[in-house]
Amino acid sequence: MKKEKAIVVFSGGQDSTTCLFWAKARYSEVEAVTFNYGQRHKLELECAASIAQDLGIKHHILDMSLLNQLAPSALTRDDIDIKEEDGKLPNTFVDGRNHLFLSFAAVLAKQVGARHIITGVCETDFSGYPDCRDIFIKSLNVTLNLSMDYPFVIETPLMWLNKAETWALSDELGAFDYVRSQTLTCYNGIIAEGCGECPACRLRQRGLDDYLSLRNDRVL
Ligand SMILES: [Zn+2]
Repeated sequence: MKKEKAIVVFSGGQDSTTCLFWAKARYSEVEAVTFNYGQRHKLELECAASIAQDLGIKHHILDMSLLNQLAPSALTRDDIDIKEEDGKLPNTFVDGRNHLFLSFAAVLAKQVGARHIITGVCETDFSGYPDCRDIFIKSLNVTLNLSMDYPFVIETPLMWLNKAETWALSDELGAFDYVRSQTLTCYNGIIAEGCGECPACRLRQRGLDDYLSLRNDRVL
């Protein structure tokens, strides 16, 4: 374990909770940052706060409600339904959201003396968010280091994993049951298995089914 400090960009969902466990296994000190941008469900913030508390992690919640003014989107506006059309960005897209979150996380990281910034972005299940791509993260890392004259290292443990492999990682970290029962991925604000119908639930469930069948094969 490195005697260093890390900040995890944390939403209370499956991916970022797995990243929180990943960071805890690696760094002597871990803090989490959650952005409040007028999520549909306040439950998302509460869920993040209770996970951070369970893991004994200092939790920062930063107000990013201005995103709501910038991007009309199903995640931030109650009057827009979540739709998904083939080959198009889902209408949950907020332009530059991840770019902004990572930049604010970096300002916070420097203030608290953390060099490592961990984010659960992933290019494998690429849903068209350009600021979740590996090439963007590498570019931003250089920019942040130059902008603050500070040796940040952005780490993306999930970048090349599919959803089943992300479940496998949580299992390796001893966190499979916790992640399965305590995290919130569902767009309809239902914890754990969720509503089962929204795109986020379907993606999560498909990955879980894939992983469970792999795990059963291994046991047999
Ligand atoms: Zn759902």
